[in-house]
Amino acid sequence: MIPNTNYNNLKDSYLFYNIAQKINAYLKEHEGTKLYRMGIGDVSLPLCDAAIRALHEGVDDQSKKETFHGYMPECGAPFLRETISGYYQKRGVSLSSEEVFVSSGASDELGDILDIFGKGKIVLIMEPAYPAYVDANVMSGNTIIKLPAGKENGFLPSPSDLEKGISPDVIYICSPNNPTGAVFSKAGLKEWVDFANETEALIIFDAAYEAFISKDAVSADGVALPHSIFEIEGARTCAIEICSLSKTAGFTGTRCGYTAIAKDLKRGGMTINDMWVRNRTTKTNGVSYILQKGAAAIFTDEGQRQIHENIDIYKNNAKVLMEAVDSLGVWYTGGENAPYIWMECPGGLGSWEFFDRLLIEHQVVGTPGEGFGKCGEGYFRFSCFGSPEDTVEAAKRLKSFH
Ligand SMILES: *Cc1c(COP(=O)(O)O)cnc(C)c1O
Repeated sequence: MIPNTNYNNLKDSYLFYNIAQKINAYLKEHEGTKLYRMGIGDVSLPLCDAAIRALHEGVDDQSKKETFHGYMPECGAPFLRETISGYYQKRGVSLSSEEVFVSSGASDELGDILDIFGKGKIVLIMEPAYPAYVDANVMSGNTIIKLPAGKENGFLPSPSDLEKGISPDVIYICSPNNPTGAVFSKAGLKEWVDFANETEALIIFDAAYEAFISKDAVSADGVALPHSIFEIEGARTCAIEICSLSKTAGFTGTRCGYTAIAKDLKRGGMTINDMWVRNRTTKTNGVSYILQKGAAAIFTDEGQRQIHENIDIYKNNAKVLMEAVDSLGVWYTGGENAPYIWMECPGGLGSWEFFDRLLIEHQVVGTPGEGFGKCGEGYFRFSCFGSPEDTVEAAKRLKSFH
């Protein structure tokens, strides 16, 4: 048996390994020194009360014959699919409950959705990128085209940045973006939607951070920033949206998300929604009843209010860090509508040089931009998921960087 040899083509990611090595070396020499870790991509606040209460109720339901649930519908419990459909409706997006699939989280879906593509596809990934997009496609042997973004387009590339004649089958878009925190405007997304419809490509839209978009946030043209690609005309025929409660509601260790596929999305005469129903009913037995109860509570008025209290704490961390970066006088993006700040390293320093100096001189840890793709060299990511106290101290130290 020869296994999938595409796995030989995976590149080891040394990013988090290197960071850990450098931290360990530093702490070995400076035992007991407190570090201010502004690099983490995981949430730190506990689940909100509404979710905890619903999860407990879910457990109790399983203890009684009358309320016990066995296998759940593979594509999601009707009550949660309805609820999420209603959540879209509130934002003016019309998706039926059958167009919403409950999942165990965005990472699972980002991997599983490749089943729909078929073999040997050309996949466009905008860099800097969330590493899972690249690795999932390497594993299935697809050809990856990297579209480097930069300061000149605010790290939001458009189809006109593509080399002429390049026609990808699949296009990954992450907005608000990890790692850059940049958010596409409606006009910017429309260009990609039009391009995908013209070329019959498929867009995978990662909306893991949609809830971080501020209430009144607008792009330069004064138009509200889109939370969903389905706010864009034409998206129903070209896009799959992958969402998660991980960052928005602290579900990283609890696991629940959802995926939206409109019934109008067809490629090669096949209806993608039907294919995904078939896929899910074959390859999963659904998400646990208890978790779906907990997830539904997030979408109630009370749940929404509570998760936004937590998001506001993270966003306040962002504000504190942005002030510090402002005082350094360097260019940056993100922070306003995302839990990440993506800054140019001061004084023309390289990503790792800046990392070393922040660690050694200021005991502050961030993430070198180079780890998210070559065009991230010279940039640095701060995450806003740390404690407010540590963030204030890290910002103070950052301000004193020379
Ligand atoms: C964290 C993250 C995810 C993963 O979400 P899960 O639902 O926890 O799997 C997906 N996409 C991006 C861009 C992320 O940063």
